Parts: sequence; structure tokens; C-alpha cells
Amino acid sequence: MKTKFFVLLLIFVSCGPTESEIQEQIEQAVEQATSTTTTTKYVVQNPLLEEESIAPLVPFEGRYSSFECPDAPPPKEELFLVNLSSIPDENLIQCYNYALSKTIPTEIETLLIIYPVGDYVGELQNNDTPYRGAGFEPVLNENEVSTIYERVLEFYGPECNVEQQAYGIARYAEIGGGQQVQAALCPELSNKKTVIITIDPERKKIPIELQFVFFHEIFHALQIHLPYLDDCLLSDSPEDSFALVEGGANYFAWVTTATLQNIPKEQLMGEWLTFIKHIIAVGESTTEFKDPAIAEKAAIGLYLLVQRGDLDEELLLNATIFSTCNGDYFSSEMMTIARQYWYDAEVVNGKVLFSDQALSK
Ligand SMILES: [Zn+2]
Repeated sequence: MKTKFFVLLLIFVSCGPTESEIQEQIEQAVEQATSTTTTTKYVVQNPLLEEESIAPLVPFEGRYSSFECPDAPPPKEELFLVNLSSIPDENLIQCYNYALSKTIPTEIETLLIIYPVGDYVGELQNNDTPYRGAGFEPVLNENEVSTIYERVLEFYGPECNVEQQAYGIARYAEIGGGQQVQAALCPELSNKKTVIITIDPERKKIPIELQFVFFHEIFHALQIHLPYLDDCLLSDSPEDSFALVEGGANYFAWVTTATLQNIPKEQLMGEWLTFIKHIIAVGESTTEFKDPAIAEKAAIGLYLLVQRGDLDEELLLNATIFSTCNGDYFSSEMMTIARQYWYDAEVVNGKVLFSDQALSK
């Protein structure tokens, strides 16, 4: 258990800095400063494809589950699938439809690339792509790699010149690059989103974790505006907006996974709060809305706003608040409260109970 925890932490840390890098880009943009002395270990050279950082999934460990979703009405647009995993296509399509059935209609089309990798190896030595993340033993054959390349080109069509990205994604898969990421590769076709998820042997054992990652990324695809990438802000600052985008995806993924796996959502949040408090206590993270684990921390902050009655949970879960640049759902006061009090809570009988101070108006 201890070794496994350590490996999970390693993956956690190795994925972490790239979102920090985005955070850094935001800070740089805000301050209008050009920093050449970055201490960030990993550099995202393609800003359109950001590596995700999702905390180690210890709370999901040991829970038997399967990657299944109930039948849902078919989506308006077809899901483009490159499924090289052992999960049946049908399950992925059903879970995608399920996510669509829970959110407001959009024009989004999604290319979902899902591929297996072997055992965790750490940093990839032969990585000649712009992508950075945890490295694993490569397991794809030549055909599978070409399929990824061709399907990316096919999905975006001749209107977009995504050849370089298609090559990078396929090559990164070929060498065992691990990722969980959502990206709009073609700015001219912003309704076309690409989601890439890798399945390593550890993740394969825990379908509930995979389901969580799946819904987190699919929700990102359905967030029409990614405010930290353009002028569309969800609150006063790009940092707040970034935290809200990540927290929103996590909130949706927690609630949806909990529903599908018959776990009370409060219990799942309680387990996560306990876990995040633990990693803060051992110095692996801080209470700030920053990586590591920004998505989890911000999601608990959102839960606090829901508990306070400041935020309508339905508008969060059905992605309404991410569908406009003029929503005005989050005042700076609300964000201050979320930042200051998200961890001012105890887990009692499996539920997150915020302090009186956190809840006081
Ligand atoms: Zn995310």
C-alpha cells in the first residue's frame, strides 16, 4: 500500500507542473511580465494541449466497479472514437451520452482517444514530442499508432492544419506517454474537442477512477469557454476562472461517478477532503487554489458555495455557468470565501461539514 501510494504520488507530481505552467502563463499575462527565469520543470510548448493534473486517486482504491452507464438518449453529434482499450465501445458511447444527457445542449463534437500503456516508468527518456506527463512502457503497435494519427486528421478535416498535432499525439502514444487531457486543436473549429485518456495497469484495476477521469475530461469538452485561454472570465481574474473550470469539471465528475456507483456524493467528497488534507499535512500540496490538486480543492470550494446557498448546484452540474462569458455567477466575495474556507471543514459520518465561520453570511 505504501509503495503504491508513493507511485501514485509520483504520477501526481510528474503530471502536476504542467497545470502550474498554465497557471504561470496566466500570472504572466496578468502581470504583463515576461519571465525568463521559470523554475517549472516541464514546459508545455503547445498551449492548446495541456496536460491534466488530477490528484492520486487513493479514495477510489479498493472499490470494485465497472465502467458502465445506463442507457441515455443518443447525442446530437456523434462521438468520434479511437478506442484502443479493452473497454467496449458501447460502454464509452453510453457514458458519453450519459454526460450529454446531464448537461445543456451544445454543438460540441468530441474525438475521444483512449489507449493503454504498460507499467509506470517515470519520465520518458526518448520523448521528442511537445507533450509532458507520466511515462509508461509503450504497448501500442504500428497500426494502432497510425490509427490515432489518421483519426485526428479525419476528425478535424482539411479545413484545419492539425498534421503536426496529430503526429505529436500519435508519437506520444507510441512511446508510452500517459495523459488525461482535453484540447481544442483547431481554433477555427472550436466546437471540435479532443479528449485523450490513457489506461495504465493500475488504473485498469479501478474502473471507478477511470470513470471519474472520463467525466472530468468530457465535462471540459462541454465547457464551451475555457476562460483562462481567452478574454472570457468566470470571475474577476484568470486565476479564479481557471480554478472554476477545473473545480467545475471535478465537481461534475465526482457527482456523476458517485451517482453511477451508488455512493452518496457527500461521502465521496468527504473522502477526498480527508485525502487532500492529508497531502497538505505532509507537505505535498498547499491550501491555495493551485496545483497540486487544484481541481479537487476548487471542487470542494464550489461545494462550500453550494452549501452556503451562494451557488445553484444545478447550473454548475449542467454546465450552464460555463456556457457564457457574461454569466456573473461568481462575485469576488464568493471566490474569496471559497479560497479562504474550502478546507475549514470536518468529515463527520462520511459527510463534509463546514465550520460555522465558513457558512456564515
Ligand atoms: Zn481538468
